[in-house]
Amino acid sequence: MTPQASTEPETTECAEKARLLREYQIAVADFSRAVQLLLERSGVMRKTEYLQIRDYSEKARLLSETARKELDLHTADHGC
Ligand SMILES: [Zn+2]
Repeated sequence: MTPQASTEPETTECAEKARLLREYQIAVADFSRAVQLLLERSGVMRKTEYLQIRDYSEKARLLSETARKELDLHTADHGC
C-alpha cells in the first residue's frame, strides 16, 4: 500500500466522472430527503405512509451505493 499521490490538482475535467458524481449527489440528496420526511412526519403519519417512505428511502440508499461504486470503479479505471 502506497499513499495516494496528491501532487495532481483536483479537476473535474473528466465528463464521465462529473456525470457519475452528479448521479451520486442526486441519489444521496434523495435519500436524505426521505429520511428527513420520516423524521418530520414521525408520530403523525399512518403506518402505510411510513412504510412507503421507508421503502423509498431504502431504494434511494441502494441507488446511492450503486452510484458510489460506479464512481469508484470509474476513477480507479480511468485514473481521474
Ligand atoms: Zn474519468
